[in-house]
Order: sequence, then C-alpha cells, then structure tokens
Amino acid sequence: MIQHRVAVLPGDGIGPEVIAVARRCVEAAGRRFGFETDWDERTVGGTAIDAVGMPLPPDTLEACRAADAVLLGAVGGPQWDHPSARVRPEDALLGLRSALELFANLRPVVSHPALDAASPLRPEVRAGADLLIVRELTGGLYFGRPQGRSVTDGVEWVVDTLHYTRPEIERIVELAFELAEGRHGHLTSVDKANVLASSRLWREVTDEISARHPSVTLEHALVDSTAYLLLTQPTRYDVIVTENLFGDILSDEAAAIAGSLGLLASASLGTRVTDTGRFGMYEPVHGSAPGIAGRGLANPLATVASAALMLRLSLGEADAADALDTAVDEAIAHGPRTADLGGDDGTEAVASFLLARIEARAEVPA
Ligand code: NAD
Repeated sequence: MIQHRVAVLPGDGIGPEVIAVARRCVEAAGRRFGFETDWDERTVGGTAIDAVGMPLPPDTLEACRAADAVLLGAVGGPQWDHPSARVRPEDALLGLRSALELFANLRPVVSHPALDAASPLRPEVRAGADLLIVRELTGGLYFGRPQGRSVTDGVEWVVDTLHYTRPEIERIVELAFELAEGRHGHLTSVDKANVLASSRLWREVTDEISARHPSVTLEHALVDSTAYLLLTQPTRYDVIVTENLFGDILSDEAAAIAGSLGLLASASLGTRVTDTGRFGMYEPVHGSAPGIAGRGLANPLATVASAALMLRLSLGEADAADALDTAVDEAIAHGPRTADLGGDDGTEAVASFLLARIEARAEVPA
C-alpha cells in the first residue's frame, strides 16, 4: 500500500474544522484508490504562539521539510492582533514560503453556473470560465532590497526594489508551460514590458522557453489591459503566468469570476521534486474566519479543493483528485450550502455530502 506523508497544520479559527473535513475526504479517496496517508499534525500561527511563543516552531518546519506535501488551514485572529505584538500568526506564512522555497503560487478559478447570483459578472460573461493563475511567489518587489524609508536633505523618501534573476524567471515560466500542456494549451504571460526592465527580461525568457513547448500557444499581455479583460472576457484565458505583485492583485480580482473568495483553493509549489510529484503547500485562500470559528458553520469546500490539488500535484493521485473535485462540483451544484453561499447548512452536512459522493463512487464497478 502506498503511504503518503503529509504535514498537516490546522492553525487557528475555522482552520481545524475545515482541515478535519479535508482529511476525511482524502482518507475516503485513499480507501477507494489504494493509498494511505500518514498525517503529521503540528501547530502553526496563533495556536503555536500560545503553545510555544512563536508562530512557526522549528518542529513544525522540520515536519514540513520531511513530508511529501503540507496541508494548511488558516492562521490569525483578533486575540493575536495587538499593535504591540512582538510576533504575529501571519509571520508563519511568509516563514513557510521562504524556508520551503515555495516559488510558485497556483490559483485555479472556475465559474460554476450554480453561483451566478454570487458573482458580480453577468452569467453570459462568466459562463465557461476556467483558468489557472500562476504567480511567482518568492521574488520581485516583496523581497527585493534595498527596501525602506529615509530622509535626505530634509526630504523623506522610500524605496522598493523589483529584482528578478534569470533562473527565477525561468523556473516559474517553465512550470507554467508544463501546466498549460496539461490543460488547454494556452499561456498568457502578463508583464509591464513597456515600462519595466524586469518585464523585458521576463518576456525574453518566456519567448526562449516557448520554443521548447510547441504545443502551447503563447501570448504576451500588459498587466493593465489584463486587469480589464479578466473581468470582461474571462473565458479567453487558460493559464496566466506573472510576477509576484501583478499575480497578487490579479488572483484576488479573478475571485470575482468564481463568485466567492471562500471557494478558492491554492497550491504553493517548491523546488523539490519527489517520486510522486513536486513538493508543495496547499491551503484555502480564505482566512481563519474567527467570527464563525467553533460553531460548525465553516464552508470546507475550499480546503477540500486544496486537498485535491495536493493529491494531483504532490502525491501523484490523479484519480483521487478527480473524485474530490467532482464531489466539490456536485456540492456546489446541488449539495447543502453554508451561510457564505446563501444557505443555512452546517459544515457537517457538507462533509457528509462530500463523503457520500466520494464513497458512493467506490461501489461503482471499474
Ligand atoms: P476571512 O477570509 O477569514 O473572512 C472573511 C469573511 O468570509 C468573514 O465573514 C468570514 O466569516 C467569511 N469566511 C471566510 N472563510 C469562510 C469559510 N470557509 N466558510 C464560511 N465563511 C467564511 O478574512 P478576514 O476576516 O479578513 O481575516 C480573519 C483572520 O484571518 C485575520 O487574522 C487574517 O489575518 C487571517 N487571514 C489568514 C489567511 C491565511 O491563513 N492564509 C488569509 C487571509 C486572512
């Protein structure tokens, strides 16, 4: 029996509730498709601050390094938000990204017809939209140095640095081409090449890598026009690859296509390639929703969809990933709904629906 090693970090607020559902779904898929998961559960975020005084304890990081993948709930909450706080739960996220070299953030966005009413876009504009945003996560303006503020001759000034090396661009663009090959074969590389030197290198590198992927059609696009077209013609996109800041903004904008930030899954992939895929960290896009924590009201769908990405990209379990994705799609189409989707069902009702779908399919002869 194949045994996958997953570090699981439930975190704060609704994190433990949604992670518990995702674990049950992965285990149900494992029974059906013949694998087991060894869950190495560790503390992170505010829970870890309370336990040991730091948001990312060394044993948590070690468990992540030793695993095939990391599944994270959410971190943060008002009890750790004092302006004078020395450490913050959210520090754990940046710590994990840089310590685990998670250079590629993937955010799939799909428009489910059942959520037409939840999206600000007209149904005919969003119908059929199915795209993947690949954001560079460890370079660019958020990490470039020098960064800071100073005063020269009585004038205050600030600086941020947009820094990329050629290898940093190559690895994210190469990954985006590979992902486009597994989807509809169209890649949009987003930059600001009419202004930025970093974008001009980005374009050059992307054209070079394009030659190695003849089955993928490549288009270059400027970030300003993409911000417009993403909402006016979302169906024209398959895979979008872009640098850190542009990706941060475009990926949240794209949530309007899905209808709810609360449904979105994410994967952050690292450089380590394993026997079953690529090491990565998987988490829902939403936060810890402290207002509903512990009340059985959390929507687990984004976390289950994140677990599906983990099965597909890190654990090499494509059939199990399909089973979870299908269960999530069916839940959105005609399953129980939590309050964030306009329903009045609880977490457990959604969990039971998902498990029934994943397990019921096991009874269907192959
Ligand atoms: P949030 O995503 O936690 O909540 C926003 C709204 O959506 C709230 O009304 C919440 O109840 C609702 N919501 C979110 N997820 C839901 C779910 N699964 N089911 C049902 N309703 C859901 O964002 P926020 O309120 O801005 O932040 C709360 C805390 O989460 C803060 O401490 C913030 O720093 C942290 N946060 C963490 C992450 C992360 O861990 N990756 C991301 C964003 C925010």
